[in-house]
Amino acid sequence: MIDKKKQLEQLKKNLESKAGKIPLLTKPSEVIFGEGNPDAKVFFIGEAGGYWEAQLRRPFVGNAGKLLDKLIESIGLKREETYITNVVKTRPPSNRDPLPEEIEAFKYYLDEEIKIIGPEIIVTLGRFSMNKFLPNEFISKTHGQARFVEILGKRRIVIPMYHPAAALRSGQVMTDLKADFQKIKKFLGGEIIEDKSSSAKASEDMQLSLIN
Ligand code: URA
Repeated sequence: MIDKKKQLEQLKKNLESKAGKIPLLTKPSEVIFGEGNPDAKVFFIGEAGGYWEAQLRRPFVGNAGKLLDKLIESIGLKREETYITNVVKTRPPSNRDPLPEEIEAFKYYLDEEIKIIGPEIIVTLGRFSMNKFLPNEFISKTHGQARFVEILGKRRIVIPMYHPAAALRSGQVMTDLKADFQKIKKFLGGEIIEDKSSSAKASEDMQLSLIN
């Protein structure tokens, strides 16, 4: 069995080889792949790269990334201990929202990253990554609510959160995001009470229940 680091490298190369064949990606050098610890327990999913991410070919390295680093440190972790990736693994023109067909084109790569790393906790940042697991929900209502979600045959914790870029624009969102981050600590410590009475709806291939 090839080690996880090699598997991730191969996956990145595979995506680079798709340049010119899938939406948004015209050159291999435009790929902004996920990065971090292949054994990460906590797995962050953002939306797509922006200007700095495209320059450095790394996820979350601009202002939103600096905030994400601070939030990760606020729960006693280092960025390198986690894994950070995006739904769309390149930069959309003028940082526009990704289109459904673009999200679909990169889906295989995000699913494979989850499969290889096998995280306990998935934190979605913003509505595009939240909608992957919780397609019918609104982030203003759902942020900070941890759920068990059956993903690719395994039960994992998904915690939807606001995108750090939104927190840079609004004091209230910043307050909420900081508070939501503290929940990661609680779940890393194994303090989980499952509430099976939840009426939350999962997408077709997932089962979920509200944890708290
Ligand atoms: N915003 C994102 O969603 N992802 C990045 O990598 C950077 C900013």
